[in-house]
Amino acid sequence: MDKIELEKERSEILKRYRSLLSVCRNTIKKEDRKLIRHAFDFAANAHRDHRRKSGEPYIYHPIAVAKIAVEDIGLGSTSVVCSLLHDVVEDTDYTLEDITEYFGEEVSRIIDGLTKISDIFDQTTSVQAENFRKMLLTLSDDVRVILIKLADRLHNMRTLESLPPRKQLKVANETLYLFAPLAHRLGFHAIKSELEDLAMKYTEPEVYQTIVQKLAETKEERNRFIQSFTRPIKQSLQNENLDFSMLARTKSVSSIWGKMKKKEIPFEEVYDIFAIRVILKSPEYREKSDCWKVYSLVTDIYQPNPDRLRDWISTPKANGYESLHTTVMSRSGRWVEVQIRSERMDEVAEKGYAAHWKYKEAKPGESGIDKWLRRIREILKSAESDALDFIDDFKLNLFSDEIIVFTPKGELRTLPMGSTALDFAYSIHTQVGDNCLGAKVSHKLVPLSHALKSGDQVEIITSRKQHPKPDWLNYVTTARAKGKIKAALKEQRKKQAEEGKEILFRKLKQLKIDNTPENIQKLVDHFKLPAPIDLYYDVAIGKIGQKELKAYAAEQETGGILSYIRNPFARTREAGPKKETAKDPIRQQLKDKPDTLLIGDNLENLSYTLSPCCNPIPGDDVFGFVTIQEGIKIHRNDCPNAMQLMSKYAYRVVKAKWMTNKSIAFLSGLRLKGIDEVGLLQNITNTISSEYNINIRNIHIDTHDGTFEGEVMLYIYDTQHLNNLIKKLKKVKGIQKVSRIGKMEAV
Ligand code: MN
Repeated sequence: MDKIELEKERSEILKRYRSLLSVCRNTIKKEDRKLIRHAFDFAANAHRDHRRKSGEPYIYHPIAVAKIAVEDIGLGSTSVVCSLLHDVVEDTDYTLEDITEYFGEEVSRIIDGLTKISDIFDQTTSVQAENFRKMLLTLSDDVRVILIKLADRLHNMRTLESLPPRKQLKVANETLYLFAPLAHRLGFHAIKSELEDLAMKYTEPEVYQTIVQKLAETKEERNRFIQSFTRPIKQSLQNENLDFSMLARTKSVSSIWGKMKKKEIPFEEVYDIFAIRVILKSPEYREKSDCWKVYSLVTDIYQPNPDRLRDWISTPKANGYESLHTTVMSRSGRWVEVQIRSERMDEVAEKGYAAHWKYKEAKPGESGIDKWLRRIREILKSAESDALDFIDDFKLNLFSDEIIVFTPKGELRTLPMGSTALDFAYSIHTQVGDNCLGAKVSHKLVPLSHALKSGDQVEIITSRKQHPKPDWLNYVTTARAKGKIKAALKEQRKKQAEEGKEILFRKLKQLKIDNTPENIQKLVDHFKLPAPIDLYYDVAIGKIGQKELKAYAAEQETGGILSYIRNPFARTREAGPKKETAKDPIRQQLKDKPDTLLIGDNLENLSYTLSPCCNPIPGDDVFGFVTIQEGIKIHRNDCPNAMQLMSKYAYRVVKAKWMTNKSIAFLSGLRLKGIDEVGLLQNITNTISSEYNINIRNIHIDTHDGTFEGEVMLYIYDTQHLNNLIKKLKKVKGIQKVSRIGKMEAV
């Protein structure tokens, strides 16, 4: 670099420094100017050989940070000094001791905090909000550390362009998840919006550019509209001799995008792209009544939407925001938000507490700014007692592979993304997992399979009667939970097999079969099982019972000629005898038809289908109905449509009966009603899956006001199975009514 260019740079550095000083003019005492000059010289010298990634002299950055600290955050001279020096210890050969020596303890402590924070952010691992918050609290006895860090981040975001793309994303995400919420929390609205927009430029570049472009395209039209909308308001306010200014504030790109996503609407339908702001010059004692006066004048001209009146003057927001908002209908039929506030309120809204305290009378011995800093510390600290509230603002984890959830006592648990309530239970203790009945997430009952989100507070409900079920394996993602469930299931199986063995031996004795290893092996082979333990287990759960064993024994006697066919449909019906009465037109009609359609298992090849209106299954009394386009449809005799079909189209009805000797599952539906109980969904699914050979296709449960209504669609083999299941379901705690879908209800 030649001399001329260096000269140019030097004068540019000085120019920037002077612009910093001019910003400080109103807030900083004369005697502090020397100190600031000293800090500037020190930093400029320390960074003299450094350049930003953009190629610019490094010192531009500390100057810019100092400017933000004064201008946007409202800090004083010590902070200006610290901002100028904030990267010295980290990036140059100067040490903290040097800082102490030249600038004293106070500055040194702040620089120390800033350096430590930088260390944390420079690590490749992501910073999680909880750590971030803890870090903020522990590293910053002096909250100025946090505020200077915020200024630092804002400037780094403004100059993010020059970083490599990968780093851009990391910084942008950190900003979005940590710094923007922090700025919001502290009431720095302008900084928050700017950070969000800058971050979005990198995290969602296409969307960002599209919205920017659309804003530009619509600008002229918008301005014209604003002109004509504000004209009568201005007139009216002037007539009342109010001292005011009026401006239109366009929403930030990220908040427009937020609205589009939330409401699922295109850009063109975001009605509050801009808001009109009326800023009143009125003394503090009169500002409230003046604001309401303006409200009354505005709503004399335009019709307000009563649902959209927001009075943050009587009750300011937690972060100090005060304003009166109303949304009114313009003459062209467009809703427009009008914000009414005093100058003081406006400054507080833009700059947060910094501005707030400027207006407050300080206690003797405590400057306004001290009071403000103390208040910020209180805000950060109070988060500790109300972790959840804090995390609401402070999105918990930065990068998506982990979530952080809380125990009821506020303890923190880190789990992989996608973890469920059951994973959480196992993360606490194996016993808690094994006995997990359900969970409460933020005081709402959820099933075991409920996927958790960061920030959830989870309370596990246990029962000593509860034990792991095979389908639990589908509800967990963590290796720990999976391992524990498998171990428990294995243990259960072993125990049950032990019981099954005793039962089997007893039964064999009755059948006069010796329980020799050879005979046991024969049984294992007969039932096509892998090992004796599986046989014992099947006996224990009743899958192999008296009947199966008897059949086996008979087969042994007859030398294997009559082989036992395991046919679930051949069992005795439990469906109960249907009364045949003369009044039953369906049966009568069927009786008269000589030919019977046999419904077999090769449904696909035949031109008949099972009607979805009643989902008939083997064991149901059914009939066939000849349709014009879909071949023969099989309906249950008690199908709600049956009567009509029979009476109107008797000639199209075909007698039908089931002819099945193979296991095909049919779709059937149950409707459940009752009282919402803890772990209800779990109990329902457990009951269903405990029933051999029944699979759930889908389950849907709606709860409201403590009651629930649900539908379960099942693949089922016959009515016997279904009736068994219905009986069992009726015993589930909370269930009051179980009925088949598509069955005529008794009137
Ligand atoms: Mn920096």
